[in-house]
Parts: sequence; C-alpha cells; structure tokens
Amino acid sequence: MEEIVIVFTIAYALVSLCFVAPPREFVSAGLTVQNILSGYLGSEDMDVVGYHLKRTTSTVLLHSLLPLGYYICLGLVSPRLQLFDPARAGLSANICLLACLSIALGGAVCARYWSWNKWSHHPFAKLLLKHGSPWRAVASSVNIEFRRITKFSSIIGGTSLYITDSWIIRCSAYKIDIAHQPDVHLSIIHAEDHAISHESSVAVQFLNIKVSSITPGVKPFVIRLNSTDYGDLREKLQAPIRNARNVVIHQSLSDKFIEAFKEQVAQNDSYHLQDGEEEPEPCIGCMQAPANIKLQKLCASAGEGQCVPCYCRPMWCIDCMGKWFASRQDQHQPEGWLASTSPCPTCRAKFCILDVCLVGR
Ligand SMILES: [Zn+2]
Ligand SMILES: [Zn+2]
Ligand SMILES: [Zn+2]
Repeated sequence: MEEIVIVFTIAYALVSLCFVAPPREFVSAGLTVQNILSGYLGSEDMDVVGYHLKRTTSTVLLHSLLPLGYYICLGLVSPRLQLFDPARAGLSANICLLACLSIALGGAVCARYWSWNKWSHHPFAKLLLKHGSPWRAVASSVNIEFRRITKFSSIIGGTSLYITDSWIIRCSAYKIDIAHQPDVHLSIIHAEDHAISHESSVAVQFLNIKVSSITPGVKPFVIRLNSTDYGDLREKLQAPIRNARNVVIHQSLSDKFIEAFKEQVAQNDSYHLQDGEEEPEPCIGCMQAPANIKLQKLCASAGEGQCVPCYCRPMWCIDCMGKWFASRQDQHQPEGWLASTSPCPTCRAKFCILDVCLVGR
C-alpha cells in the first residue's frame, strides 16, 4: 500500500474518532456536532426536547456519512486507486463503496423516518408518549421544568444527565432516556474507582445508578456520575437511592459531614414558634428551602460552657447551616468537626451542634 494511503487512513480515523467521541480539547475548540449545528438545533435551555430530537437525528446522519467521506477523500488523495471508476477499481474497492453507500443511506433513511410527521417517529417522542398523550404535552412540561435554574446537571464525556423537579433525563449521542421521578426506583449497581482521571489530577469515583421505572414500556437505564455530585443528586431526587450492594461511596468531606450533622439535629429538641412569630421565610443562603433552623443554647445551662445564646430569628435552612458549620472547621481534622463549635452566621455567637434546633409548629 502506498504510504500516503496509510497516513491518510490513520489521520481520518483519528479525526473521526474525535468527532464521534470528542475529547475535552475538541469540545473546548467547539468541534462537536452540537456546536457546528448550533443554529439549526436552537437553544437547549428553551426547548430541551426539540433540541435533542434534532441533535440525535443530526448525529446519526453525520456519523453515517463518515465512511463515505473516507472513501471520497481517499479517492482524491490517491488517484492511482481509481476509486471513482468502479470498473477499474477492483472488487474489494467496490465492496467498500457499496458498504459506505449503504451506511450513508441507512443514516439518511433513519433521519428521515425520525423526523417524519413532526418527529413523532423519533424514539424519544415515542418514549414521551409512554408518559402521557399527546407526547407534545409531555414535552412542553419537560421543557418548562428544564428552564428552571434549580435542575441538577452533570456532563461526563459525551453523555449528559439532567434532573429536574420531576424528570430524570440522560442524553447520549443517539439516544435519550427519560423517566418520571415519582415512578422510579434508583439503585447503585457499581462504583468505578479511578486513581487519576484524565480530566483532573485527583482520584475520582464514578457511580453507576440504575433507574427503573414502573411506567409500562419505559426500559431501565443506567446513569453515571462523579461521587462528589452524589450529595447534590440525592438532594434533587424525591426517592431514596438503594445501595443494596453496599458500594462504598467516596462522598465529599462536606457531604459526609452534613449527613452526620442532620442526623444529630434530628435528635435535638425542636424549637416551637411562639405566638406572634411568623412562619419561616426562605433561607437566606439558598433562597430555596424554608429557614428552618433556630440556634438555642441547649448544650449547657446559662453561663456555663463556651457556647453563647443567639437571639437571631430563623434565617437558615439545615443544609446551609451544615455547610456554614463545616466551612468554619479545621479542614485537616474532619474527625473533630461534630464536637466542635462555630460562630452564628449572623450575630457571631458561638454554638455547637447540640444547639441547632429545627423549627417546629
Ligand atoms: Zn439554605
Ligand atoms: Zn445568631
Ligand atoms: Zn453549645
């Protein structure tokens, strides 16, 4: 074989591979299907369903053209192969041409079929139909929730995962999976520990979580995420995540602490609103959860110990108070955090975990 053919083949294979499974450098240079076609695809935030209907279809079509592109470019690079003259090109070249044409044709037929009748043949539209009819009504409710900034999102490689208030959406190159949160069971099936990831230079753990829906016709799918996002994921989910195989999760230090913090606070006495005191306002930390924490010195009687009474009204939620508490600790000695103290975020009065009370009615 000519040297140029080998060099060209390797170069084309590499470029195609980067196009199909783009490494970070490609993504940041904007060389992805999404970026090249951004004008056609529209805004993902405004119309997530329409965007992914078009994106998956264009991806199938573009990828199916890659082998034919190779054949044509090879014919141009090496005219001696006479690839454009089937009578002289030889049997193997003809078989290759036929295969490339079939793949391209298959891609075009698939794309045309999916987009037929305003996308109603697309597998994603059919999946939405399983959740309610007509599928466009389901799509618009998904779109509305997707616009909220409170959704959870995680992108690993070419796959993105979104969790809105009631939907779990996983988008890969050709396929979209979606499940309605109230109808799903989640279970951790596997954890992969990587000593060093190519994205950053620290040890990472990826969790594979199976999402099984009780909605008829919705097949289970597996979502994958970095274990440091596990705390955020759980916060966004309505259902608990089962860990039947007792996978050891490498949560971030503060997630682990907040779990223990909440456990302790749940055992403390709660604070009862007095007559005339108003219902809790939204937490001033996250503006989401109600401010349901009141600091009261309960750990020792008045004048004893190092804690000081705080007279602030409830302004923080338990998560934000936990994060605040964790942020005031010695980051090198997490074992001591639960027994330690922190200043009140507003009046700076010193408190310990025993003084953190949930606001009750
Ligand atoms: Zn908060
Ligand atoms: Zn205070
Ligand atoms: Zn105290």
